[in-house]
Amino acid sequence: MRIVFIGPPGAGKGTQAERLIEKYGLAHLSTGDMLRAARDAQTDVGRKAEEYMSKGELVPDEIIIAIIGQRLAQPDCQGGCLLDGFPRTIAQAEALDALLAEKQTPLDVVLELRVPEEELFNRLAGRGRADDQPEVIRQRLVAYRRQTEPLLEYYGAKSVLKSVDGLGTVDEIFDRVVDVLDNVKES
Ligand code: ADP
Repeated sequence: MRIVFIGPPGAGKGTQAERLIEKYGLAHLSTGDMLRAARDAQTDVGRKAEEYMSKGELVPDEIIIAIIGQRLAQPDCQGGCLLDGFPRTIAQAEALDALLAEKQTPLDVVLELRVPEEELFNRLAGRGRADDQPEVIRQRLVAYRRQTEPLLEYYGAKSVLKSVDGLGTVDEIFDRVVDVLDNVKES
């Protein structure tokens, strides 16, 4: 299965992703994790990315698309993958469509994890990552609304979008997501 996981910062994608990759045997492609690893390793890409991440802005599309293109070509992605935090712009979504069309491996489902904004802010403020300062959180939420939310319409029009309520316990949310994915698998 090839799954795109969409949701605002703080929606709990990372937590659910960890469980999903285990259950379905998927490769986990988190662009946030990849960028933080590049930053910590002080590579050129990592240094460039940090300029944007530290402000809560999106890293330029061409950087992200290059990273994902390389990652999708790795053997572990052949058995299916969970894209977590990518795509985040229409340009990224179009690039992903082109990459997958080349391989004739379309997306099976785009999962949206829905959480109200006031809840997001509280969750993020309690987390303590370097980009979890109030001003940076606000900017990340703005970036989500402006640049990523339009993807819901993009994927809705392709009839691959499924939305899941992201409020509740980790177990409750996982059960909802699994219900959706099991239905997709059967159809
Ligand atoms: P969150 O969803 O909690 O903001 P992520 O770990 O997904 O956290 O992303 C952290 C930061 O990494 C983002 O604020 C952004 O700067 C950068 N980033 C991650 N994925 C992308 C992407 N697909 N396009 C552009 N920037 C990205």
